[in-house]
Amino acid sequence: MEKVIGIDLGTTNSCVAIVENGTPVVIPNRGGYKTTPSMVAVTEAGKRLVGHIAKRQAITNAENTVYAAKRLIGRKWNSPQVKNAVATSSYRIVEGPHNDVRIVLRDKEFSVPEISAMVLQEMKVIAEDYLGETVSKAVVTVPAYFNDNQRQATKDAGEIAGLDVIRIINEPTAAALSYGFGRNIEKTVAVYDFGGGTFDISILEIGAHGVFKVIATAGDTFLGGEDVDARIIDWLVSGFKEEHGIDLRQDRMALQRLKDAAEKAKCELSSVRETEVNLPFIISSGRNEALHLQRTLTRQTLEELSDDLIERTVDICKQTLEDAKLGKDEVEEVVLVGGMTRMPKIQQSVQAFFEKEPNKGVHPDEVVALGAAIQGAALVDDKQEMVLLDVTPHALGIMTFGSYFEELIPQNTTVPTHRTKIFTTSRDNQTAVKILVMQGESQRAEDNELLGEFILTGLRRAPKGQVEIEVTFEINADGIVSVRAKDLETGLEQSIQVTATSGLTKDEIKSMMENAKDDLVDRRTSEEFEAAKQEAEKLIAEIEKLFPQVQQIVASSDFGRDAIEKAKAIVDKARAAIEKRDAAAVKEQIEGLTRTHRMFKGVVAKT
Ligand code: AMP
Repeated sequence: MEKVIGIDLGTTNSCVAIVENGTPVVIPNRGGYKTTPSMVAVTEAGKRLVGHIAKRQAITNAENTVYAAKRLIGRKWNSPQVKNAVATSSYRIVEGPHNDVRIVLRDKEFSVPEISAMVLQEMKVIAEDYLGETVSKAVVTVPAYFNDNQRQATKDAGEIAGLDVIRIINEPTAAALSYGFGRNIEKTVAVYDFGGGTFDISILEIGAHGVFKVIATAGDTFLGGEDVDARIIDWLVSGFKEEHGIDLRQDRMALQRLKDAAEKAKCELSSVRETEVNLPFIISSGRNEALHLQRTLTRQTLEELSDDLIERTVDICKQTLEDAKLGKDEVEEVVLVGGMTRMPKIQQSVQAFFEKEPNKGVHPDEVVALGAAIQGAALVDDKQEMVLLDVTPHALGIMTFGSYFEELIPQNTTVPTHRTKIFTTSRDNQTAVKILVMQGESQRAEDNELLGEFILTGLRRAPKGQVEIEVTFEINADGIVSVRAKDLETGLEQSIQVTATSGLTKDEIKSMMENAKDDLVDRRTSEEFEAAKQEAEKLIAEIEKLFPQVQQIVASSDFGRDAIEKAKAIVDKARAAIEKRDAAAVKEQIEGLTRTHRMFKGVVAKT
């Protein structure tokens, strides 16, 4: 049977595993380590280094050593996360030609999938060395909360590395697979995954006969061990500045040493109560005098520095349980995944929240790769009885008239799935519609992630609302989205596999959103609008009829002038909302209009 490797492509470390004779095993690298740093570097001589060897030279070659590239994968240049990385990374991050992100190593620009591909290739080679044969198929894991762009980019990285990524699975789901594999248990399990760069929580039901069903998932792709390290760095830098008046951030090499020392101190404090950060010759004072950094960090200080970050993970757990409609007592087991879960404070917080001791039986660094290998083996082995039912972490939909996000597939829907909805045109004789495909939780389209767009042209000319367009969304088992739109009358059809929208600039996206006249109108929204408009127009007409009379009566009092101004403002606002065909805004004004109308009638009746 064909061998499929499972790769946990981590922010900090990566790990590769395989199922051998029915048992999942982690494959050690040449140095005997079971995990490999997700680091890539180019030396002065132009040599490419990956893994431990890249990590070892990171301090002396900080500008040409990439770490935590996973934080950038599938992201757009102008996203806040990229801005943050540009400000804090020791390597250079620049804008690519398609509003994407490039990393500069020795004057050569690399896309993020290219960098991740180098790590994946290293994992492939580790597996091939161990197995003594070439490997071409892999299951790669991603944080559950990754959106479509990030999943696509990860798949691209696999392709660049020469791997056929037969499935992308979510990290917490992989962890649950590994936890439940071969144990024939029936349990509701929470997987709390706090890694180097991301935090994820998933709630799963493990059923008899190898059925793994995810009920809910959530997370934060910009919350991880790196943030805890950053807090320690801040603490060290500000202490040094107080003492010597020198900002260590100005020096890339000093910063890289601080980063290393911060992570080391953090890990040590998981087993001891205090540790010394000792960095001799960290910087020169400018008077030919070298300065040293020496400070003691206690576990308690570390806990204070990272308290709000840990709290954020607990808040996300709370929300996820609510989404899953489960009480804490219904979660029978809590599985800890990710290197950060070795921190005692994190274990305590998880225990306090779920009110039970977390399971420590799985190896937090290896469990995800093992799960990926289990899934890989199941995919090529027909005899394996294992069913994995994952969910989509974000709602999917399209933008409709008025910049609304119309949801087609809700968050936490089991995948693969497809949904269809019928929309109508928003203008008379509209011959084209633009479909903007989005992912996110906000009702306002612009707050969500734009995944792609396509235009369905050649519609037959008809009055607005009479051309019916059927839009179908499909999410495959990798969590990757495709969309189809069909003119129901003519059968005309267009579809796209949604790919990263790197070709679009922020301005282009904005102008697309403003230029909404060719968008579709959801029939429901449109009916809602018409009803609200009628009610509002009736009230406005009555208010305006009473206006001259009311004005005459109250003109002499201060209160009266004020009331008239307010009434005018409400009428103006309602008119503007009608103009914009904004059903929600019109509805919002109806209450004010009703109040004004009642008041006007009262004033007139009294006289
Ligand atoms: P992962 O992405 O799962 O490989 O997790 C890596 C993160 O876990 C990094 O931020 C590490 O610094 C952190 N980590 C690893 N070991 C420990 C430890 N013993 N105590 C605290 N954090 C750790």
